[in-house]
Amino acid sequence: MLIDTRKVDTSDAIIADVCIVGGGAAGITLALELADQTFTIILLESGGERPDPTTQHLYAGKNIGLAHEPPETSRSRYLGGSTNCWGGWCRPLDKLDFEERPWIANSGWPITKEDLLPYYVRSHDWLQLSEFHYEIDHWSEEIQRLKAAIFSIEASGLCNIVDQLSPPTRFGKFYRSRLEKARNIKTFLFANVTEILTNSNATHATGVAVRTVNGKSFVIKARTIVLAAGGIETARLLLLSNKVQTEGLGNAHDLVGRYYMDHPRILSTRVKIPDARRYRPLYDATLHRIHRGVGSKRMRLEIHLAPGPDVQRGMKLPNSRTYLVARHDNDVSKSYLALKALQNALSGRKQFGYPYSKIVPDVARQLSILLRYTPMTLATIGEVFLNSFLATQEFSLESVLEPIPNPDSRVMLGPERDFFGQNQVEIDWRLTEQDKLHFIALNKLIVDRLSKTGLVIPLESGLPYFEAWPENVVGCWHHMGTTRMHTDPAQGVVDMDCKVHGIHNLFIVGSSVFPTVGSDSPTITLVSLALRLAEKIRKDFQNPRNH
Ligand SMILES: Cc1cc2nc3c(=O)[nH]c(=O)nc-3n(C[C@H](O)[C@H](O)[C@H](O)COP(=O)(O)OP(=O)(O)OC[C@H]3O[C@@H](n4cnc5c(N)ncnc54)[C@H](O)[C@@H]3O)c2cc1C
Repeated sequence: MLIDTRKVDTSDAIIADVCIVGGGAAGITLALELADQTFTIILLESGGERPDPTTQHLYAGKNIGLAHEPPETSRSRYLGGSTNCWGGWCRPLDKLDFEERPWIANSGWPITKEDLLPYYVRSHDWLQLSEFHYEIDHWSEEIQRLKAAIFSIEASGLCNIVDQLSPPTRFGKFYRSRLEKARNIKTFLFANVTEILTNSNATHATGVAVRTVNGKSFVIKARTIVLAAGGIETARLLLLSNKVQTEGLGNAHDLVGRYYMDHPRILSTRVKIPDARRYRPLYDATLHRIHRGVGSKRMRLEIHLAPGPDVQRGMKLPNSRTYLVARHDNDVSKSYLALKALQNALSGRKQFGYPYSKIVPDVARQLSILLRYTPMTLATIGEVFLNSFLATQEFSLESVLEPIPNPDSRVMLGPERDFFGQNQVEIDWRLTEQDKLHFIALNKLIVDRLSKTGLVIPLESGLPYFEAWPENVVGCWHHMGTTRMHTDPAQGVVDMDCKVHGIHNLFIVGSSVFPTVGSDSPTITLVSLALRLAEKIRKDFQNPRNH
């Protein structure tokens, strides 16, 4: 059942067995995995079924560290969460990503890849992915179908790693009818959780406070409470829930919000690939990014280059992935930048429900630039649309790096207030000198080893792209690490079951629990964690001693 919370009239508490805060990929997977059980579930989602600017604005905040996408526009606040705007790249973390590595401080999960494997396999159905195969040999028919080739680099210690592409699944739309039909699930839309309530010594969560933008407020009481509000908002909610534990809930060791990570991404060396036509279909990200609609239907995989585990160990490197970005004559032209800005302004309306009045000035500004440089604009548009057919041979390498978990990189409460008078977030995203050295070593490794194949010719030497560090680093919209998993309460916010240390019945699911993040996109891992948590909750309810 879907309920519009703005129309709920009650001053009494509403009672459920399980209350899940957040209707994104994590919350929806968890709720539906528990569908048709004998216990009742309430799923609370801040937004409705479409974006609306008032709700979206509840995500507003400030970046006070490295520049990356602002908190308001780096995620979607309505049913389905950021799967309403995600790209669909999926790949499970590697075995080594879960391990403690002496050369990476604070690394390692308390669970192994094997522990998560059965859930990774099942996550493929949830994400509408192909068979659970990430070995390149398995895909030889697909590679032939695309008339594509892969770089023969295995002997060099580099690997070709496979990313699978989800359609991409929009969880809100795709799972709506299942949410509506599930007998034991009530989904409250437009329900903003403003506080997690506890007993007097915060050993038990008793419920959550809910408010709506039209002035309704009530409490949901539940035996088990799960926070699935995303990598930034989950930390914010814990910090805001500070009536009993004044430093914030689960924050006795000052860890909530710390270790914030996004995946740093950097464009590096320009290269020439004479036989590029055969390598582009699998390695060129622009074919997927620019032609996402066409590309994602046609393509089910993308290949990236990565140092294998032995090279990572030997060179003391973190994980990473590198791919190609096609370069064209006009791709840094004024027209190209104006087209990108125009696309962003228009997507602000589609993604966040911004009214025309908010986007018109920006649209007008970009259109005037496009008109002023008409010949260049036409050439740029041609290049964008003909991208997959143009016989380009020039590319930039682009690398995504596993960042070092860093306690000084953090999400905090700032002084500005939201609609409900609650502190907005301030995000202090930081990278270290070690991250920079890792990028440089990785770049050298990839360029050297690719050059040795004779198929790739570097067009520049030196490291021009690193001179402006960290200005030219961008993020990937992956918000991770703010409630990290560790068996020791002094080193982690949740334990290996995703339960908040010291609070009997409060759980967290999402990328905030990742202690180390590999270099792969996070959603398949967080969906797998949701499936694993569902199994635990199901077992707990079967065993009354746990309640
Ligand atoms: C542009 C973009 C591209 C991306 N591309 C990829 C990709 O290719 N591959 C990949 O793996 N990942 C990608 N991601 C990241 C991916 O979208 C997220 O990892 C994933 O959607 C997170 O799911 P979640 O359920 O944990 O959190 P969210 O999607 O953030 O969902 C949280 C939900 O909680 C709700 N909520 C928040 N606060 C409250 C509150 N106080 N009360 C009630 N409800 C609340 C929100 O409205 C939201 O619906 C991308 C993200 C973006 C923005």
